[in-house]
Amino acid sequence: MTTDPTSEGSRSMTDAPADAHRVLVLNSGSSSVKYQLLDMRDRSRLATGLVERIGESSSRLVHTPLKGGEPRERSGRIADHGEALKAAADELAADGLGLDSPELAAIGHRVVHGGLKFSEPTVITDDVLKEIERLVPVAPLHNPANITGIRTAQALRPDLPQVAVFDTAFHTTMPEHAARYAIDVETADAHRIRRYGFHGTSHAYVSRRTAELLGRPVADLNVIVLHLGNGASASAVAGGRCVDTSMGLTPLEGLVMGTRSGDIDPAVTFHLKRVAGMSTDEIDVLLNKRSGLVGLCGENDMREIRRRVDEGDERAALAFDIYIHRLKKYVGAYSAVLGRVDAVVFTAGVGENSAPVRKAALAGMEGFGLAVDADRNAVRSGEPRLISPEGARVAVAVVPTDEELEIAGQTFDLIHN
Ligand code: AMP
Repeated sequence: MTTDPTSEGSRSMTDAPADAHRVLVLNSGSSSVKYQLLDMRDRSRLATGLVERIGESSSRLVHTPLKGGEPRERSGRIADHGEALKAAADELAADGLGLDSPELAAIGHRVVHGGLKFSEPTVITDDVLKEIERLVPVAPLHNPANITGIRTAQALRPDLPQVAVFDTAFHTTMPEHAARYAIDVETADAHRIRRYGFHGTSHAYVSRRTAELLGRPVADLNVIVLHLGNGASASAVAGGRCVDTSMGLTPLEGLVMGTRSGDIDPAVTFHLKRVAGMSTDEIDVLLNKRSGLVGLCGENDMREIRRRVDEGDERAALAFDIYIHRLKKYVGAYSAVLGRVDAVVFTAGVGENSAPVRKAALAGMEGFGLAVDADRNAVRSGEPRLISPEGARVAVAVVPTDEELEIAGQTFDLIHN
């Protein structure tokens, strides 16, 4: 049950019990843990939960059993990730879904940065953990929290296969000319500076589901996926392989996001340092937390922004227009990169729910074969669906993402293949 992290993408057999069919998915942030327990026989969810504000006096756990039973909430200090996972395990046990159950096959962890080494889901060994640690300098906000989550879960069930599913993995197929920044090669390589991309689990899931929706083999399709959540990224996917994506060394690059600037002239940072006297950390916070929609209009919830636009709020209208302009530029750029586009797909919180964003993003792109049917766009549904007019040259679709299901599926497949 070992995996050598230097053998790229190696898949490992494990000793998971053959009849075990549940997978626990953990997404550990710096002060939160999200979890879902899935039954892989029918890919249904058994329970979901969130522990937030870990380490504060106002910690909170919300646990939702999905096969009967009401959501339960617990508040009061949860000191660390160990306590958080223990509390989640107690809640699951109360529903008869304890983590000591022989039905639990594996734990799948979302890991944000897998660098170039990990292009596949990987069984976590000591060597794999060391490699994830080695990537902390390129993912200082995310990988340490993921490592804490893994260690905590290992302590709870040391006998169980634990699998890392990397946000960057889907993008490792990007060609060098898309992945490299045009900077001095030696400096870039010495510090592992290149474009890695993120949200890969979502881009992989959504591009595959789009092929199912269209009833065509994924290998035949060129798709532009627009993952528009609070974080947002676009990807160009040719025959199921990512050929370009908008996030880079970090999730800061690319589209305008809830609180991140996306693309910006790097000289803005020198200017802020030299002229505004800001420190590197202050600039980091400015671009990651106080920019994007929040920086432009004080609000990052698209529902609220649209409400303000409808009331004639000019700042909200400008923020919306800047958001849409950037989106449109990426659709155009990826159309050029792909040469032929079969589908443009919207996903995540904004992409799945905001008809005005979908309409505006593709407005005026009829020359590219892109159009949105007003009635279809207005439909609210949790199902994958087409929103382009009948017979359109390019399919435009809404495909709800499901990163947890994808992580669970990849985890389960890995331990059984
Ligand atoms: P995510 O990061 O995918 O969870 O997306 C979160 C974002 O989705 C929120 O910040 C909102 O801007 C957006 N969102 C969620 N629900 C709606 C909705 N009904 N209409 C428009 N935007 C929404």
